[in-house]
Amino acid sequence: MNIVLMGLPGAGKGTQADKIVEKYEIPHISTGDMFRAAISAGTELGLEAKSYMDQGALVPDEVTIGIVRERLAQKDCEKGFLLDGFPRTVPQAEALDSILDELGKKIDHTINIQVEKDELVARLSGRRICKTCGTSYHVIFNPPAVEGKCDKDGGELYTRADDNPDTVANRLEVNMNQAQPLLDFYESKGVLTNIDGQQDIVKVFADLDALLLQGSRS
Ligand SMILES: [Zn+2]
Repeated sequence: MNIVLMGLPGAGKGTQADKIVEKYEIPHISTGDMFRAAISAGTELGLEAKSYMDQGALVPDEVTIGIVRERLAQKDCEKGFLLDGFPRTVPQAEALDSILDELGKKIDHTINIQVEKDELVARLSGRRICKTCGTSYHVIFNPPAVEGKCDKDGGELYTRADDNPDTVANRLEVNMNQAQPLLDFYESKGVLTNIDGQQDIVKVFADLDALLLQGSRS
């Protein structure tokens, strides 16, 4: 079961990825983990990636793709894998197709967890922090008992500048513009499945699970 899972920040991709890898016992392969593993193993590509990261530079595609190739060739990927955060661009998606060709594998499910922009902004801008003790709340996911007041000490809750809805919306816009060509690419190949991410977490997973249980599409 080879899965590419996509979703904008706030769509719940991480939560659903955890549930999928737990149920299907496949490795969760995120770009960050792959880089960290390659660097700590001291592979040639890992060290190359590190040299870019140390300079605060973007790791070039050829290095990233090489690291993905090495990772997907590992034994634990025989039963399948869940790719998260890769591919990010159409060239990366094309490179992934050739890597999988070489390895005699294919993607079984290309899934996008879809959530509307307004809902993402609400989710991503909902954090509130107590001025007195620094405890963090979320207006949707972890609200205080009394709106605007800390449960522990009654302190006033505030919104960090980073969590301001306009700031969040601007950041999200950048993410959406980056993600769209990749979604179009998979859509045009007829392999993209959109899952409604606006439902509650359990229902989103039920939809994902139903899709995965249908088996691989050819
Ligand atoms: Zn407090």
